[in-house]
Amino acid sequence: MIYSLILFIVLLMFSFQEIKKVKNSYARAGIIKTASGEFPTPLYVFAGTDAEVRMLDKKSLKNVKALIANTYHLGIRTKKADDIKKAGGLNKFMNFSGLTITDSGGFQVFSFGFGREHGIGKIGFFPEKNQPIKTDQNLVKITDDGAFFTDEKGRKKFLGPKESVKIQEKIGANIILAFDECTSPFHSYAYTKKSLKRTHAWAKDFLKFKKSKQAAFGIIQGGEFKDLREKSAKFILSLPFKGIAIGGPLGKNKKDMKKILGWLSPILNKRPELPRHLLGIGKPEDIFTGVEKGLDTFDCVIPTREARHGSVYTSLGRIDLHKGEKPEDKNPIEKDCSCPACISKTKKDIKKILKSGSPKEKKEIVKLLTFHNIFWFQNLVEKIRQSILDGNFKEFKEKWLARYNSLKKTKKNA
Ligand SMILES: [Zn+2]
Repeated sequence: MIYSLILFIVLLMFSFQEIKKVKNSYARAGIIKTASGEFPTPLYVFAGTDAEVRMLDKKSLKNVKALIANTYHLGIRTKKADDIKKAGGLNKFMNFSGLTITDSGGFQVFSFGFGREHGIGKIGFFPEKNQPIKTDQNLVKITDDGAFFTDEKGRKKFLGPKESVKIQEKIGANIILAFDECTSPFHSYAYTKKSLKRTHAWAKDFLKFKKSKQAAFGIIQGGEFKDLREKSAKFILSLPFKGIAIGGPLGKNKKDMKKILGWLSPILNKRPELPRHLLGIGKPEDIFTGVEKGLDTFDCVIPTREARHGSVYTSLGRIDLHKGEKPEDKNPIEKDCSCPACISKTKKDIKKILKSGSPKEKKEIVKLLTFHNIFWFQNLVEKIRQSILDGNFKEFKEKWLARYNSLKKTKKNA
């Protein structure tokens, strides 16, 4: 009896605590408490789309602090969600002790729909031209009930707030995200307004259908329109969510992103007890912007995806190890990095294997690069947190970014 009571309380446990806030800024350090443990913020959440981190072995997975898996991939494209449920949830299924999140599938509705129609591969990667590439590739029909779409195998599927919540409950992550409609940066005010109404109705439905004790986060949409973004923030905050996520288009460049996040900061600041997540954005410079605007957690595919393509992050900028003017470089990727790649390999070794290694050797190298990027981004957010705690976030940011961008400026390469 006592045991089940304790278990019940542990399962219920989810909270956020703001530890320290930067003066005259929204930047803060905090702590997310969940059944999986306590997680200091700012925190980077890596892609665990199919309930695995691609090119990362089980031993290295133990060093990862947070992952986001995908409702569409686990519950619609495959039936893996059923196996995850049988295993006792995502953490047990993956033998993973970090923080787990599942997204709602709303982003896939976008990428199969307007993403294709407007020629945008991924929100967060700003389109190079300020015009949509019009195609007739839209495979989604969005109604007030949800999204009907045709998947890559030509099968008809439906995903709405009820289906999304059911799949996310099967997966059993610590945090689940409300089902929303992600609009495109090329949508008009009228369309975005209509879509927002739907997203808000779905947020209410999502909470109504939710039966589990998982922490549900509501998603703020509203595109690039100030009144819609503000309206969305206020509406989502009025619902009993345990946290807030910011989704959808954040403009056409980094300046727009800063402006849009800035509209939301004073509104979100009224509820300091709610953790705030920025969806799909996570380049180093964007993390600094996000932290400055009061965001706590970030997810992005770039650390793992770019490692698979031979690109690594360093304090002097990103390096493409397939290229470079100095193939004889006998330094590690990052001199003071203690990851297995930096301890055991020089850039010369890595470049040689990427160029002429056997498929097995190449695979092993990509595993090491994946681990380096994860380790590097985790280190970065930890340093940001420390600077907030030490009261020198602004100085740290300026110094760090000047160094990070110095390689680009001098046009040197690795
Ligand atoms: Zn390293």
